[in-house]
Amino acid sequence: MSNGLKVKKRNGSIESLDLDKMHLMVEESCRNLAGVSASQVEMQSGIQFYDGITTAEIQEILIRSASDLIDLDHPNYQFVAARLLLFSLRKSLYGGIDYNPHLYEHILTCVNKEIYDEQILVKYSKEDIDKAKAKFEEETAKVPFAVQVKEKFGGLRFYVHAATDKHYNYISFAESMSYRTCEECGAPGKTYTDGWHKTLCDIHAEMDGREQEYDDEDE
Ligand SMILES: [Zn+2]
Repeated sequence: MSNGLKVKKRNGSIESLDLDKMHLMVEESCRNLAGVSASQVEMQSGIQFYDGITTAEIQEILIRSASDLIDLDHPNYQFVAARLLLFSLRKSLYGGIDYNPHLYEHILTCVNKEIYDEQILVKYSKEDIDKAKAKFEEETAKVPFAVQVKEKFGGLRFYVHAATDKHYNYISFAESMSYRTCEECGAPGKTYTDGWHKTLCDIHAEMDGREQEYDDEDE
């Protein structure tokens, strides 16, 4: 699909603006993120396209429109902007956003371009490099990431993927501290259960008209 606009590719050739391709990339940037919308990013940027625009400029406009959408209620647009920026880097490095060269291939290309020292291929065999890549992928899969952070019953809930016991201990410490920390000012507080559960210090509890504290005996 195209809307008739012509774009200039990084290599200088002229093509019709492929809206489907652009749409897929923006969708991919929003994947698995709460509170973000691909069409919002496109709407924010759409009016700024013009004939003869370069693909690099389109990428820049999309990054800017995603970052313009970041606010307190929609913090996840920061990740949309970051992913779009990564796509852009990948495009200029490898010539495409889907193309992920094998580590050995990448080293070979860089040695041929005299960016890397050719000694690297003398010191390390293809087997060594393959082993390093496998190890790297194994380690990458272990990096934990937050999937959801929210407040529930006056306390913090922090959901994470691929966390170790050590991480869970830190999280559970922070969660238990959240029941003793005023939501308004960070001073020592207690959880109040009259109405919407909230953890407040004495001053903010009074301002909020709270009386009933959380009682362990109830559980
Ligand atoms: Zn307070």
